[in-house]
Amino acid sequence: MILDEPIKEIRTLKNYINGEWVNAKTDEIWDVINPATMKIIARVPRSGSKDVDDAVKAAKEAFPGWRRTPPVTRARYLFRLKMALEEHFEEISRIQTMEHGKTIDESRGETRRGIEMVEVSCGIPSLMMGYGLEDIARGIDEYVIRQPLGVFGCIAPFNFPFMVPLWFIPFAIATGNTFILKPSSEVPNTMARLYELIDDVGIPSGVINMVHGGREVVSTLLTHPDIKGISFVGSTPVGRDVVYKIGCAHGKRVQAQCGAKNYVIVLPDCDMDRTVRSMMTSFFGNTGQRCLSGANLIIVGKDDAFYDRFMKNIVDYTKKIIVGYGLDERVQMGPVRSPDKKQRIIGHIEGAIEDGCKYILDGRKPKIFGDYPDTCFLNPTILTDVTNDMKIAQDEIFGPVMNVMRVKNLDDAISMIHCNPFGNASSIFTSGGAAARKFQYEVEVGNVGINVGIAAPMAFFPFGGMKDSFFGDRHGQGGGHGLEGSIGFFTESKVVISRWW
Ligand code: NAD
Repeated sequence: MILDEPIKEIRTLKNYINGEWVNAKTDEIWDVINPATMKIIARVPRSGSKDVDDAVKAAKEAFPGWRRTPPVTRARYLFRLKMALEEHFEEISRIQTMEHGKTIDESRGETRRGIEMVEVSCGIPSLMMGYGLEDIARGIDEYVIRQPLGVFGCIAPFNFPFMVPLWFIPFAIATGNTFILKPSSEVPNTMARLYELIDDVGIPSGVINMVHGGREVVSTLLTHPDIKGISFVGSTPVGRDVVYKIGCAHGKRVQAQCGAKNYVIVLPDCDMDRTVRSMMTSFFGNTGQRCLSGANLIIVGKDDAFYDRFMKNIVDYTKKIIVGYGLDERVQMGPVRSPDKKQRIIGHIEGAIEDGCKYILDGRKPKIFGDYPDTCFLNPTILTDVTNDMKIAQDEIFGPVMNVMRVKNLDDAISMIHCNPFGNASSIFTSGGAAARKFQYEVEVGNVGINVGIAAPMAFFPFGGMKDSFFGDRHGQGGGHGLEGSIGFFTESKVVISRWW
């Protein structure tokens, strides 16, 4: 049974500027489709620089009043937002499934993780405290205070329509800054609903704004003299060559969380059944459209019997994955977000086969649960005979594809990870403490999983990344959320030395 769809009518979405819903100053609009049904569910404007200028003006004017609002009062707005989000939890989750394609359980998980960000930000009166010491010299005290900077911008990706913007919104405003979001125009409905709730909560006008659109909005945010910093999450070419480069050249703080190619290492002493089940969510959860998804599976050792048994289990489990419309609670994997993305993934699989890979499962001609167009659906693909130098092993595919490789020992597995340009995440499955410790000690990635297939940090820990997975200036180095990514990025430390005669 398909759950009730919360989006009932096709609206042209508006921008949210200075506490008002306003039409974008453009006639250009894009359709937003539900990738499972291929029906249009909304239209989103391609706003331009004038719309961004209006949002920046509003945010700049709101800043002095908001920064003077006591942190404990700012936190009260966030408590109210948390309550509103709990009340609308299921509706928000279903909107994500409708516009992104992920299963309803995946959307519910995402909603929970987004709300956790708001919850953690409610601790701002403690989180934002500085520190001090009396008598650094006789009669002189020294202390550090943390202050907000002004207007921050955020550019969000399509794959987590709810959670990713909430990595930044609550912390930016809790610390006393004002904010402008550009959601992904592929999935703008979730944020449109969030902003309606923000409006209901009564956060003062101008503190939090949203401008829909594409490149022109991004380039105006990156170059606008009144914007102090940019949080970006998306692909490496955009994060590195556009956002980091242009943002830094225009004097902004930048934290750019980018693409990934994650390796999952399996040792023969792992707990077989639990490991195989973890592989299902790691590689095929969110239809592989997750920066923490497993992509390359490396089985360590020469134990052929283990390899055969492990792979048989993987294939048996994978074949049982039910692919269909995520609003059917029986479905375990949804479509990818768009026909283009599906064709891109198929192109990568074809390239891999030309390079000599073999498939033990071919997901290109999908079996779909229910009567839906196969435009965006894929089934999981499992490739063997992959070598680490192949494009399929090096490039980010962002789809339900597992590349299987074998190596002699853990050292070789770690070297393979280090030959990849990305450094977002990597996991090891083992019951051996020494192997796990060696792995966490040596591996050059930002997020390490030990018997965990998706090493996703909680709101109170930072979400880092290394090499081509993260670009940040000295303020943005901590990645998103956690103390460095939130308090460090969204505040300036000021040192005060005072003497009283
Ligand atoms: P994307 O880079 O295509 O788009 C991200 C944002 O940038 C969107 O808002 C988009 O409108 C804008 N944009 C796209 N092209 C642009 C251009 N040429 N100039 C200016 N702006 C542009 O990314 P996506 O496809 O939306 O998201 C998927 C990517 O995000 C994957 O690479 C994934 O690994 C990455 N991601 C990373 C993390 C992380 O924490 N490291 C988390 C989620 C997603």
